[in-house]
Amino acid sequence: MENIVLAYLFFIGTCFGSFISVIVHRLPDYLKKGNAGIMNGRSQCGSCGKTLGWKELVPIFSWVFQGGRCSSCKKKIPFTYPALELVTGGLFAASAKYLCNLPLALSGDWSEISRVFFFLVVAFVTVTFVFYDIVYQEIPDEILVPATAAVGILLLLLPEGNSLFRHFEPVSWNGAPLGQGMNALFGAVAIYSFFYLQFLIPVGTFCLKNKRYKDALEVLGYYVYLPVAVLKDVSFRLVGKKPAVPEGDSGLE
Ligand SMILES: [Zn+2]
Repeated sequence: MENIVLAYLFFIGTCFGSFISVIVHRLPDYLKKGNAGIMNGRSQCGSCGKTLGWKELVPIFSWVFQGGRCSSCKKKIPFTYPALELVTGGLFAASAKYLCNLPLALSGDWSEISRVFFFLVVAFVTVTFVFYDIVYQEIPDEILVPATAAVGILLLLLPEGNSLFRHFEPVSWNGAPLGQGMNALFGAVAIYSFFYLQFLIPVGTFCLKNKRYKDALEVLGYYVYLPVAVLKDVSFRLVGKKPAVPEGDSGLE
């Protein structure tokens, strides 16, 4: 039973992987022109524009059976497409197997089922970010903000006492474990600090070498300023005001 479910999750994952390539392909155009929804219109061959039939839309298999070429114009279809489908499928199955207690979920335990669901969403969001970043070297707010909000809300909905990463000790204060939200916050600060250091070390070294101490202090201040600016920016956008961080100048893209 467990293996059947894993195979099924893998298959569902490849379908979502296929969907991710559609999002990544169409989003920039959609954001620029605001025309035709992301979901509108059938997928077409990137070279000859032939509308793809269902036989050409089966994840991985279509690519393999067509020898990696378009069935109409015979142009090569980049390996990134089946790779994306494979990776998403693999992550879906692996998340359920290694991050969750699958037998417990299959026995109908709601807490564990929601945990599986949570990690599938995280896998989906992660692959979308990574692939988008590889193709365009940026991640637009239009996917960053809703994805972060979705994961945040799911995190709060996770049943009490269901530690997200049971491989790690939950953060505790005076022996009492802190809630899910605090754990998430500590995780966020840790990951943010990791990326901040990659910015601080080279820029800070440059400032000190050139005796630009005022600039060095400013760079230190960014540690607090950046998250505040981003939060301000997002909340301004939510109420339809102009962004607080000048477009293209935030260095956060
Ligand atoms: Zn073609």
